[in-house]
Amino acid sequence: MVRIAVDLNRCQGYAQCAFLAPEVFAMHGEEGLLYDPDVDEAQREKLARAAAACPVQAILVDAVDAVDVADAGDTPAEAVSGAR
Ligand code: SF4
Repeated sequence: MVRIAVDLNRCQGYAQCAFLAPEVFAMHGEEGLLYDPDVDEAQREKLARAAAACPVQAILVDAVDAVDVADAGDTPAEAVSGAR
């Protein structure tokens, strides 16, 4: 599994990610982004492309450490709150 997080405070809804990795990201309405935080290993390359294409670098691939740290202490809630 590849663990991802999207900083929804940064995300401007450009939908580059949804275009490049539609299995993982989907746009919901104008600016709402839905995504699956646990992505199959097979999608890793698409994910990397989507992350690289994001104009505001909002996509964090391999977010496990970041999430663990967040759980342990000060929570950058925005980074993970988008995960359904
Ligand atoms: S490419 Fe970046 S800014 Fe655009 S929808 Fe995806 S995460 Fe948001």
